[in-house]
Amino acid sequence: MIVMKFGGSSLADAERVRRVASIIGANRAKKPLVVLSAMGDTTDSLLEAAEKAVSGSVDVGAIETLHRETARNLGIAAGETDALLGELKTLLTGVSLVRELSKRSRDYLVSFGERLSVRITAAFLSKSGILARAFDAWDAGFVSDSAFTQAELLDDVWQAVPAAFAEYASGKDGAIPVVTGFIAKDRKGTITTLGRGGSDLTATMLGAALRVDEIQTWKDVDGILSADPRIVPEAHPLHEITYEEAAELAYFGSQVLHPRSMLPCRKTGTLVRVKNSYNIDSEGSVIVEARREAAEPVRVITAVKHSRLLDIVSTRMLGSAGFLAHIFNQFLKWGTSIDVIATSEVSVSLTVNTAQDLSGLLEDIRHVSDVQCHDEKSIVTLICDVTQSSAILAKCFAALAAHGINVQMISQGASKVNISLICDDAESDHVVRILHGAFFGTPHE
Ligand code: ASP
Ligand code: MG
Repeated sequence: MIVMKFGGSSLADAERVRRVASIIGANRAKKPLVVLSAMGDTTDSLLEAAEKAVSGSVDVGAIETLHRETARNLGIAAGETDALLGELKTLLTGVSLVRELSKRSRDYLVSFGERLSVRITAAFLSKSGILARAFDAWDAGFVSDSAFTQAELLDDVWQAVPAAFAEYASGKDGAIPVVTGFIAKDRKGTITTLGRGGSDLTATMLGAALRVDEIQTWKDVDGILSADPRIVPEAHPLHEITYEEAAELAYFGSQVLHPRSMLPCRKTGTLVRVKNSYNIDSEGSVIVEARREAAEPVRVITAVKHSRLLDIVSTRMLGSAGFLAHIFNQFLKWGTSIDVIATSEVSVSLTVNTAQDLSGLLEDIRHVSDVQCHDEKSIVTLICDVTQSSAILAKCFAALAAHGINVQMISQGASKVNISLICDDAESDHVVRILHGAFFGTPHE
């Protein structure tokens, strides 16, 4: 058996659904289980519709048109799609009347995206002679806690998933399961979501619990690339990458896989393959526990923009242990997460996401320190073999110095696979290109 996961952009319209169906059909002999995201940007559209409903107006026009048009174009019956769209409209009307939306209602609301896409795709597969059946995640064994919008799957899933697909696994039932990504239900039966991009976690959990041969996630690029191709056009696909590197990549700006999605497949050692639906024959990138082939010391160069850099300098004679303890306690108290950090005896430099409101936190840490905030900073990360850090850093700084760029902070983290540098947002793309050129060569220079 294999798991095949397709994201929203692979399902953006009828033509793409046809492509997905033909890829699934071509893999029939491998006994696929399919996991789907919502079509196109449906999750964003649903969240927008929710905002509008809170301010009093109900508008599902775009969502309705996309799904109805797709069903019509694919020549499948609209009954189930219409029923779900009707339920969605009723829910939004309710929200527009009470003018409020809890996290719990928001999860119920966004769940319609995945529930619609699996029904449309399964119906089209069956119509094309590839017998398939749509599953809502809760009928596939996905039970979570009740942390709405960010739910965690419970350990029960490890038994519940194989139980749900026992007949398919044994060959008794031949219909290919097409399962909603991203959603689950808690023990009380209330719909939850696993966080944005959570379909990857659904796919790896399903694959790990069923001990499948391979978990495939299908994208529209050639697997995992050495850099964002919009910044570095000559970026190349990687053959092989470790779970640890993939997890760091996900945290540091690459859209490749949801960070939490590596956990289940690491437990079972199930291989993950990132494939390109526009280049079916290419092998894609394989994610494994331990590298099987020799690799370049630097694998990927990524950047996350719009970070805030805080320089915190102690104003009291606290001693470093007391000072750091005080500072970190305030981050804990305010629930602010830190991305990159460097410390000395009496000072700390760290970056946080600009989306977070820092006013309370800053007031508290200013009791014991001077704080300077610098906005519009980027975290440029080298996913690399940190055992070769001296050579990597030497090359890195030589290249940046040659272009007159001063790095503002550097952190070779606890992770064995990344080194991060902080620079201005305005320099970020340039820095990524310089480093990519330094490590992989620039064909144009
Ligand atoms: N549809 C959800 C999202 O857009 C989940 C996913 O695509 O993985 O975040
Ligand atoms: Mg999506």
